[in-house]
Amino acid sequence: MKKKRLVVIGGGFAGLNLAKQVDSNYFDTWVIDKVNHHQFQPLFYQVASARIEPSTISFPFRKIFQNHKGVHFVLAKVSSIDVSSQSVRTDNGDYTYDYLVIANGCSSNFFGNAKIEQHALGMKSTYEAIQIRNNILESFEKSEFSEAHMNIVIVGAGPTGVELAGAFAEMKQNILPKDYPNKDFSCLRIILVEGSAHTLNSMTEPSKIASEAYLRKLGVELQFQTFVKDYDGDQVTLSTGQMIPCKNLIWAAGVSGNTIDGLPQDLLVRGNRYKVNRLNQLIGFNNLYAIGDIAYMETPLYPNGHPQLANVAINQGKLLAKNLKSIVNQSQPKPYEYNDLGSMATVGKHKAVVELPFIKFQGYLAWFVWMFLHLMLILSVRNKLLIFFNWAWNYLANDSSLRLILGKSKKE
Ligand SMILES: Cc1cc2nc3c(=O)[nH]c(=O)nc-3n(C[C@H](O)[C@H](O)[C@H](O)COP(=O)(O)OP(=O)(O)OC[C@H]3O[C@@H](n4cnc5c(N)ncnc54)[C@H](O)[C@@H]3O)c2cc1C
Repeated sequence: MKKKRLVVIGGGFAGLNLAKQVDSNYFDTWVIDKVNHHQFQPLFYQVASARIEPSTISFPFRKIFQNHKGVHFVLAKVSSIDVSSQSVRTDNGDYTYDYLVIANGCSSNFFGNAKIEQHALGMKSTYEAIQIRNNILESFEKSEFSEAHMNIVIVGAGPTGVELAGAFAEMKQNILPKDYPNKDFSCLRIILVEGSAHTLNSMTEPSKIASEAYLRKLGVELQFQTFVKDYDGDQVTLSTGQMIPCKNLIWAAGVSGNTIDGLPQDLLVRGNRYKVNRLNQLIGFNNLYAIGDIAYMETPLYPNGHPQLANVAINQGKLLAKNLKSIVNQSQPKPYEYNDLGSMATVGKHKAVVELPFIKFQGYLAWFVWMFLHLMLILSVRNKLLIFFNWAWNYLANDSSLRLILGKSKKE
């Protein structure tokens, strides 16, 4: 049988797991990504707060695919899909397909506010995490502290916002007094702005209460039921009317799907996601699929779509690899359903919340469980060891030695 040509747009959790599991006896697979490495997004905040090096959570695709016969990598940004000629257009050539899988994830959602988008710092790529690190460290280097340089405003108190706020608060407590013995960092404010009444809204009450208490203990200022109305790079305007001088506003307040030109508009639903059936097939097409964050699938258990989480993306990728083979073989594919294994977030040393299907807990144990599970998810033994070493060092010394300003900051 002639092998089918499978094109996968995006090598994130969904696309990578699909490509690694697909049967190379049936498919020649082309993974197209605009960056040359897979990114482990859950630890972006540790890059942004100078705790780990970007290379430990970024994995070159060509290295990953060395042992995957029949999987090819293309460094290119996909701009459009032409369904009639079955091809995708990129800034590095056109690629035809028999089967196409869209797995290109999401970007920060600025809810249409172009000014905020222009000036705020997002955290949706390793590159953006490095930009945050550069900006923050440059602010600390200013010979004269202005109030704007000393106010870090983080928007959105989901896991990303909470983890980032906790990390900067610990940096203020443990590291900055040692790095800058002649400067007084008591004026450094870490302000977490959230539209709802709590942190970690997707979790249960005890986790919300614990995470808020941890943040307050670390000195993070919490502003609930507040929205950012405007930001010009120097000043944040809040919905309460309050204005905060601020050079570093970090946006962790939601995501929107990375849509691609060429597909019917009516496939798009809330959050700019593509509506798919239980096989991740785009409605109305039998050779187009969407998986991961970009896919919106309604099921009896999740009538409003699945949460945009790594676990969903990984399992949709793995299942689609099997289903594509079944489809080519004309046997029965299996519908997807999300098996919720729980959620967790960490605020700082010994401060974390964990919710598993059978037990919920906080504090020391939660923090160790969080570290262990994240370490297990990191690709490659080498990176696991590097991160473990970094964490162990940080734990014992309450310090890290990674505060490099590399490249340009965003607002020069
Ligand atoms: C800061 C942060 C922290 C998170 N923490 C957690 C967590 O703790 N636990 C959890 O379960 N989930 C977490 N998530 C969510 C999780 O990372 C996502 O659900 C997951 O990455 C989705 O996988 P994906 O493959 O759909 O998309 P992604 O992993 O985003 O991958 C998309 C890929 O597509 C590529 N791409 C995009 N557009 C194009 C284009 N036009 N052409 C070519 N390539 C393109 C990108 O470069 C990227 O490699 C976090 C997300 C963020 C941003």
